[in-house]
Amino acid sequence: MTGLSDFFNRPINYLRISVTDRCNLRCVYCMPLEGVAPLPHGEILSYEEICLVARAASELGISKVRLTGGEPLVRAHLSGLIGMLAEVEGIDDLSLTTNGVLLSRYARELKAAGLKRVNISLDSLQPDRFEQITRIGKLEDTLLGIEAAQAAGLQPIKINMVVMGGVNDDEIADFARLTREEGWHVRFIEFMPIGGLQTTDYRLQTSDYRLQTTDSRLQTEELVPISEIVERIESLGILEPRSLDGNGPARYFHLPHAKGTIGFISPVSEHFCFKCNRLRLTAEGKLRSCLLADEEIDLREPLRRGASVDELKRLIEQATEAKPEGHKLECGTTARNRTMCQIGG
Ligand code: SAM
Ligand code: SF4
Repeated sequence: MTGLSDFFNRPINYLRISVTDRCNLRCVYCMPLEGVAPLPHGEILSYEEICLVARAASELGISKVRLTGGEPLVRAHLSGLIGMLAEVEGIDDLSLTTNGVLLSRYARELKAAGLKRVNISLDSLQPDRFEQITRIGKLEDTLLGIEAAQAAGLQPIKINMVVMGGVNDDEIADFARLTREEGWHVRFIEFMPIGGLQTTDYRLQTSDYRLQTTDSRLQTEELVPISEIVERIESLGILEPRSLDGNGPARYFHLPHAKGTIGFISPVSEHFCFKCNRLRLTAEGKLRSCLLADEEIDLREPLRRGASVDELKRLIEQATEAKPEGHKLECGTTARNRTMCQIGG
């Protein structure tokens, strides 16, 4: 097995696989209200095709795989895919990012199939606000999903909160307190404008809510920089550095006497491109080397004409070589051909 690295000598060992572009929620920062025109089933990679890509990737040195979407749990029999990926030699970390709505139904089955851990997205602890941000979600469903994941032993569970100024930033301390009271691992993520959603068409309707950015530059209103989030949390106590299993860009800390950790992901204010270790596979089989750049390599056509694992490996290497040095989000340059739910976050 050889290690995969890009032109800038970054080791690439992590593949995020989007298994569907469909979702049972409509989060304002991710999807338009009407949803995105769903891909016909025939255009989505089958589980066998996904596994072939994972095998080729693992032979190149990818050892960490995360399933995402859309909402991965709306795809039928996801535990079947988990079971197949768990058998792929070389993949030693298999995880899932979910909105948690369906976890109470599937957590045990996923764990039994070989899933190691989950990240659960939760942007508000207030039922009304949760419903406004997700447009159709019920807070109770996601909270039950978190409990089910805990009971099934899908550890560590990380809670992802996208912080949006004027929308949910007044809940930063409430989330931080849960690292002490419930032992939760909470990660605060800066809001990113992506995929043409950075326009007024997805502004929340309530006057208190101001989600609005321009095409050219991020308005400071929505972007609450990590430095400000840290300041607000430190009103509860001094943050001390702490480590936590993971593959990603988060920096972890903890509050005094807290069992849980606090992570910060700052794609905009302090971007971490210099240590980016990932590739992304979209639901219809496009390989992307950067979340925020539109360049893609198609793997579905070669897969469907019977490409060998070696041919897939060459295409994966080609995508890796084309990985850009970094994004230019702070200048308003972002992915335009897809919304977040079509890429997988
Ligand atoms: N449906 C699953 C979920 O919500 O966790 C997985 C897919 S979702 C696209 C993956 C992650 O991307 C979520 O944690 C979500 O909060 C995050 N995300 C989506 N749009 C975002 C944006 N504009 N800025 C920052 N994070 C975003
Ligand atoms: Fe769906 Fe996740 Fe996007 Fe929300 S963030 S609309 S749950 S894909």
